[in-house]
Amino acid sequence: MMSGLDQEIALHCSSMMNSNIPSPTSENNATNVAASSNKPPPSCHVSRYESQKRRDWNTFGQYLKNHKPPLQLSRCSGAHILEFLRYLDQFGKTKVHCPSCPFFGHPQPPAPCPCPLRQAWGSLDALVGRLRAAFEGNGGTPELNPFGARAVRLYLREVRDTQARARGIAYDKKKRKNNKGINNMMNH
Ligand SMILES: [Zn+2]
Repeated sequence: MMSGLDQEIALHCSSMMNSNIPSPTSENNATNVAASSNKPPPSCHVSRYESQKRRDWNTFGQYLKNHKPPLQLSRCSGAHILEFLRYLDQFGKTKVHCPSCPFFGHPQPPAPCPCPLRQAWGSLDALVGRLRAAFEGNGGTPELNPFGARAVRLYLREVRDTQARARGIAYDKKKRKNNKGINNMMNH
């Protein structure tokens, strides 16, 4: 479930940052191996979580730096976190049908449609959890943690409900090499 975002974040990192990330490529391979094997040992899981958390934190730091005007972590509010989460939607792979789409509510639409791709709720929820922990792991206090803001909780709940109603479908790039539908949608 999380590997989609892992890959997006890794891609995102490599495009936005130069080489200050410790080998995201090899970690990605490790991720794929772990996902396809039955059960990774617990210690592996912990270090994977920690390295993902560190990468997410770096990505967020880079986002703050590239923000116009630049944003300081200490000035981040829940509203800025929402802005960040919406920004990540452009890397999303989950189709979320609009209420006006004929496939709204269909778990398996028979044809492509121009509805947008978004980050799946589960990915965002896990990401916010990691960043929330990272904020406090980097010296932030729980009271000032923007990832724990009420606005963020409400947003995540709204995303979850919206996606549940629309029955978003995760498009797996590897399984869908021939994804004309998605390309057509992007061109409209
Ligand atoms: Zn649709």
